[in-house]
Amino acid sequence: MRKPIIVGNWKMNKTIAETSEFVQAVEPFVNDSADFGIAAPYLDLPCAVSLAKKLIVAAENCHFKDSGAYTGEVSVPMLEEIGVKWCIIGHSERRTMFGDTDETVNLKAKRLIEAGMTPIVCIGETEAQFDAGETEEVIKRQLNGSLADLGAENVAKLVVAYEPIWAIGTGKSADKEIAQKCCSYVRSVIKDMYGEETAEKVRIQYGGSVKPTNIKEYMAQPDIDGALIGGASLKVDSFKEIMDAVK
Ligand code: 13P
Repeated sequence: MRKPIIVGNWKMNKTIAETSEFVQAVEPFVNDSADFGIAAPYLDLPCAVSLAKKLIVAAENCHFKDSGAYTGEVSVPMLEEIGVKWCIIGHSERRTMFGDTDETVNLKAKRLIEAGMTPIVCIGETEAQFDAGETEEVIKRQLNGSLADLGAENVAKLVVAYEPIWAIGTGKSADKEIAQKCCSYVRSVIKDMYGEETAEKVRIQYGGSVKPTNIKEYMAQPDIDGALIGGASLKVDSFKEIMDAVK
């Protein structure tokens, strides 16, 4: 039985003061029925870590090198030092705007795993790829690259977020049938890469315009174990509504 996992991805939103307010408001409602978390900008992380008890605190990115001449980047040991144990990698916004590739996502995953941290590995096709019927081909290529040589035991513990780019921030969420079909395909690719046992353990999130009004229909799908939520995770009330719908 896979434990549901709901993570809010704040992207470039919230100051430290806003982080403090949000975490204190939400923390009392976190229970053991699911894993609940937020991914926050680097500057907000120490505050979030200090206030979170059960709430997972994730970074939104990391570099795969430990140190060096990489202006503006943050390394895994830096995240470790402040007590961060989770990290999103390969979000489509990083892939399209900041040059992340399956190869760099794979290097980041390896470094995070080495540090005992949990990667949330994002994948998903563009609208043009969806329209051209290339969704499965894209999913397979991204998983083959991003999850290469990680070891079955490590893959079983990580989280994959399937986020069709055309559904991100557009309000145009994928039909539950499409989301289920794609998440089931993600699991089948992982089965081909690492075997059935690993594929049955890995948790797969759907992301893209998830809201309090549609979370239940996604969570009812057999291969959807959770959600990665952008816009609807920014307000305490809507995040709490989503939490309540999952409990
Ligand atoms: P929205 O929920 O705002 O569509 O964002 C999804 C997302 O990118 C989460 O990582």
